[in-house]
Amino acid sequence: MTRYIIIGMGVAGISAAETLRTLDQSAEIAMISDEPHGYYSRPGLAYSLNAEIPEKYLYPFSEKDWKALDLRCMTGRVTHLDPLAHQIEVDPSGPLKYDRLLLATGANAVPLNVPGKDLKGVVKLDHLEDERQILSLCRHAKTAVVVGGGVIALELIEGLIAHKIKVHYLLRGDRYWTNVLDEAESRLIENRLVHDGVVLHFRTEIAQIQGRRGRVSAVQTTQGEVIPCRLVAVGVGVKPRMQLAQQAGLKTERGILTDEFLQTSAADIFAAGDVAQIFDLTTKHALIDNLWHPGREQGRIAALNMAGQRQPYYRSVAVNVLRLAGIMITIIGAVGSGRDEDLVSVARGSSETWLQLPNTIAMENSGELSHVRLMVGERTLLGALVMGDQKLSLPLQELIATQTDITPIRSQLLQPDASLGQVVMDFWSRTKN
Ligand SMILES: Cc1cc2nc3c(=O)[nH]c(=O)nc-3n(C[C@H](O)[C@H](O)[C@H](O)COP(=O)(O)OP(=O)(O)OC[C@H]3O[C@@H](n4cnc5c(N)ncnc54)[C@H](O)[C@@H]3O)c2cc1C
Repeated sequence: MTRYIIIGMGVAGISAAETLRTLDQSAEIAMISDEPHGYYSRPGLAYSLNAEIPEKYLYPFSEKDWKALDLRCMTGRVTHLDPLAHQIEVDPSGPLKYDRLLLATGANAVPLNVPGKDLKGVVKLDHLEDERQILSLCRHAKTAVVVGGGVIALELIEGLIAHKIKVHYLLRGDRYWTNVLDEAESRLIENRLVHDGVVLHFRTEIAQIQGRRGRVSAVQTTQGEVIPCRLVAVGVGVKPRMQLAQQAGLKTERGILTDEFLQTSAADIFAAGDVAQIFDLTTKHALIDNLWHPGREQGRIAALNMAGQRQPYYRSVAVNVLRLAGIMITIIGAVGSGRDEDLVSVARGSSETWLQLPNTIAMENSGELSHVRLMVGERTLLGALVMGDQKLSLPLQELIATQTDITPIRSQLLQPDASLGQVVMDFWSRTKN
């Protein structure tokens, strides 16, 4: 009987377990996690924080689902990996042998590095415990300072506003999420934040967090301002949890490097999810996705390979449908470039693909309630961003994912006054018939 061990009870680990169980009813599958609350929806934390859903909705599995999976679940931390002996060390339960191992250890939020960072009241939104801590602090706080970029900083802001906290948002640069959004898009988000009462501080960082009796009492900014507050919320990016892999001598870069079969540099060890930096067969680059659905698919493909099938992983177009400052946004494929000063690493809920700016011409249209930007390549659309009205979201996802030849409409799209939405809709409808 093959002994499988999966380290990590996130979406990548769970999806691998489901696949292994489907392939082999009698396999011994052990799953180890140091998360005390087990498997829950991490993206859902934002909606639980802003009180849109109760906490119990975060858990996708029922007792019956767990029973059907028939796993040996262990709560503990894996402290050592020996690839030659095919053995791991779990704290507190001890050594465990495997035939095939999956590292699905995810990524953790990068902490802030300023004086006062360890005071009570400095929070992040990474795990369920963080969300509970924020909710508890909200009971006594009136004002919060938020730092960071990307999705998480905005989700923190929305959560705090929902609890009637006055928010000061500090941005290092001149605008929000510079490596994914263009200037017009950043301004749309910023305007909405201001409308919701958020005070924006551009070109401003935290110089130090001041405290009283171990708790946050104020933030002193690099502009010399002192903002009294009880809460400092941080979303400056995430770092893959690859210490085990590094200690074991596996090849790592920004994440654990794998080939297209999700195999690491060590025999019988695979990686999937936020921790994995996977060789992309299309671009020939090793890239990280910090997204739920790719994590799920990677877990599935890793499991097939662990079970002896040779199944390459084909990265699908990176898509996320988000709500930022109350505005629905779909981000598809390569849309941005450059560096975001507010993020020290890749952001949660995003993909390294989004940061690429291939050889495209960006065309955009803005209406009162909607905005669309298309990245028009030589023969295909390479990326798109849809804000507000989402009727173009699905057509664009399909046209980009299937690399549909846009030659018939390319010149129309490149007209300065083109109605991009109409051209895309008509073309998409024609491709369907
Ligand atoms: C607030 C928030 C909002 C998000 N929004 C979006 C979104 O809008 N769209 C989207 O697509 N994605 C979003 N994401 C990202 C998405 O949730 C992640 O990409 C996904 O959960 C990653 O799953 P994973 O299985 O790779 O890792 P994780 O879910 O991080 O799981 C890692 C597991 O490994 C365990 N582990 C790690 N090291 C050890 C060890 N040494 N010993 C034992 N156990 C260990 C942990 O306990 C955990 O169980 C969001 C995430 C957060 C937190």
